[in-house]
Amino acid sequence: MRAFVHVDLSAIAHNIGQIKSSTNAEILAVVKADAYGHGLVPVAIRALESGATWLGTALLEEALALRSAGINAPIIAWLTPPHENFAAAIKWNIDLSVSSIQLFEEILGKAKELGIKPRLHFEVDTGMRRGGILDQWDDFIAFALEYRDEYTLVGFWSHFARADEPDSDFNANQQLEFENKLMALTAVGFVPEIIHLSNSAALLSIPPAHYHMVRLGIAMYGLSPDVKTMGQGSVFNLRPAMSIKAKLHLVKNAKAGDAVGYGGTEILTRDTKLGIVVFGYSDGLPRSTSNKVGVYYDGCRAPLVGRISMDQCVVDLGLNSRARAGDYVTVMGGDGYTIDEWADAANTINYEIVTRIASRVPRIYS
Ligand SMILES: *Cc1c(COP(=O)(O)O)cnc(C)c1O
Repeated sequence: MRAFVHVDLSAIAHNIGQIKSSTNAEILAVVKADAYGHGLVPVAIRALESGATWLGTALLEEALALRSAGINAPIIAWLTPPHENFAAAIKWNIDLSVSSIQLFEEILGKAKELGIKPRLHFEVDTGMRRGGILDQWDDFIAFALEYRDEYTLVGFWSHFARADEPDSDFNANQQLEFENKLMALTAVGFVPEIIHLSNSAALLSIPPAHYHMVRLGIAMYGLSPDVKTMGQGSVFNLRPAMSIKAKLHLVKNAKAGDAVGYGGTEILTRDTKLGIVVFGYSDGLPRSTSNKVGVYYDGCRAPLVGRISMDQCVVDLGLNSRARAGDYVTVMGGDGYTIDEWADAANTINYEIVTRIASRVPRIYS
């Protein structure tokens, strides 16, 4: 195998255990985007074995893939534009989120044809101005009341915009708006079974926002929601689940003055041994990273040299390296540069690094 992502499922179990010890809420494991690049089905199964009771996806096809794999736990798919395969969702007992009358109507229409009541979660926009009901609120309640026999109201939910800034007033304001909308709903007789508001950041820092269920994403994978405002995942005793290794295709001596890679953007300042690693931007390395990061070999850092190519990159192993072609180097995680270091070097967030590791890189589980 020229490269692989190693996913440590015991880290997922450990992280869920950590979270469970800090809340009474039920845990919905967020497994969208191929479980943040870690692999949808293996992560979902281990999460359920480790105490999560719900699964959450963005897309409907992700939820359907879980059902196809034989997973029977409650699942919600919360990002479904009009004209998705709602018949399949309803048949496969997948909870849907509604945040517009248009979508609500369409789902009820499909459900009627099937003679099955859909399980719905009402999403309200409490300040983020992304998902959720906003301007339609009064009409939405009227619609929900009119058709209340045609669906099961399971959940009531919203999403924080700044939970990774625990001191921001924005969070308290959003929660207040959430409570107000919930009161308006209960005032007309609705009793949502499951109220959910918190993502990982709120889970770790805003206990009053846990309600019945928390939607656990990045922290389940052992990473911090925001390294700058909340610190590393280790602050919360989380263990990163992902690490990546790739083989050296070649090891060669090069001279001071040699220009390396496309554009010859880097000129060697000393004689050294270069390692050509079979892992490039098409595998998910951000091309915008500089030589702030690189790989690890035998406990030593080998910084990137020059531009990352599509399928490979070049690292400086140092003149005395004993590395040989065919040896594995650690590209990120494990004993190498952390996912957070890669994210920082690329001026992005750890979420983007892990979700962009390409599907052509095999995932290996232990
Ligand atoms: C992705 C997502 C989450 C999980 O967020 P994390 O920051 O990874 O914990 C929770 N809720 C919704 C609606 C999401 O889209």
